[in-house]
Amino acid sequence: NKQVVLKDYVTGVAKESDMELVEGTITLKVPEGSNEILIKNLYLSVDPYMRTLMTNIELLEGHPPYTLCSPLTGYGVAKVLESGHSDFKKDDLVWGIFPWEEYSLISSSQISFKIEHTDVPLSYYTGILGMPGMTAYVGFFEVGSPKKGDHVFVSAASGAVGQLVGQFAKLMGCYVVGSAGSKEKVNLLKNKLGFDEAFNYKEEQDLNAALKKYFPNGIDIYFENVGGKTLDAVLLNMKNHGRIPVCGMVSQYNNLSQPEGITNLAYLIFKRIRMEGFNVVDFYHLYDKFLEFVLPLIREGKIVYVEDIAEGFENGPAALVGLLKGRNVGKQVLVVARG
Ligand code: NDP
Repeated sequence: NKQVVLKDYVTGVAKESDMELVEGTITLKVPEGSNEILIKNLYLSVDPYMRTLMTNIELLEGHPPYTLCSPLTGYGVAKVLESGHSDFKKDDLVWGIFPWEEYSLISSSQISFKIEHTDVPLSYYTGILGMPGMTAYVGFFEVGSPKKGDHVFVSAASGAVGQLVGQFAKLMGCYVVGSAGSKEKVNLLKNKLGFDEAFNYKEEQDLNAALKKYFPNGIDIYFENVGGKTLDAVLLNMKNHGRIPVCGMVSQYNNLSQPEGITNLAYLIFKRIRMEGFNVVDFYHLYDKFLEFVLPLIREGKIVYVEDIAEGFENGPAALVGLLKGRNVGKQVLVVARG
């Protein structure tokens, strides 16, 4: 049973050598009388928050750091091989939070949802139809309070969450600009994902000036994925009563003990801005409503989803480290098995 385990808690930039591929053992059988579920992991989601669990501090209540020498855990798609629980049966497909290993014996509480719609790629349940999709949906619609015609700025715009926020905003009739960290990503935003404008933040000497160019009258909604310098420049460019759904601050995750200082926070007052952090796990009661919204858009080709696929556990550590350096183009997925 191949596993990816954490060797030691990480300070600073995460490296591949912080993780190790090991061979564990598992009996491929649900113990007699147990209500556990034996699953085969198929697709694993590689997510920025995983870096925060590699630090020996509980940052998010109820989400303790990873246990050393045990498999990492993360969202994934799996097939049920055997079930001691009456809600699940052999061959059911499920998504939830599973260990980074080939086979796992799990409890039903680790399963978020059973997968009912299989006419779309199964890997989508790590992305557009899973946690990142829900994050974009609730962050934009529930927290961002968008209106038709709003001027919207999205950072990490080509990523798992950002590419959807931009497309949702376009569907609502908003003007949308995205920032991303390479020419390839900027082209993707403009030519495939339908953003009105996009720019490479790494090439801008003056982010404030860049934002003034794209938003001469200011920003109504800033969908925050990165924090740091981008947030500081955005604060100077918000409209009065603008909204900032704070989804993530990936630029800070490698250095959580010494986060970058933000100098323009007082603009929250001057501009009467509502800046609100949210966590997708508080919104899973909206999952069915979300599926009703998004599945037709996928089937009718009104929304596209770009994935970056890494094959095999041996490439898992590199995929996670690469995500934090911006190497992924689109949703980073790790394929363990295809069926
Ligand atoms: P992405 O697919 O966007 O991947 C991460 C991207 O972050 C990289 O590709 C890179 O893109 C960008 N990045 C990395 N380092 C930096 C840096 N120093 N400065 C600026 N950008 C950087 O990830 P997700 O879409 O999965 O996640 C986006 C954000 O949403 C993250 O902050 C994540 O933690 C958060 N999130 C929050 C949830 C919630 O419930 N609140 C749930 C899910 C995600 P680039 O090349 O463009 O720099």
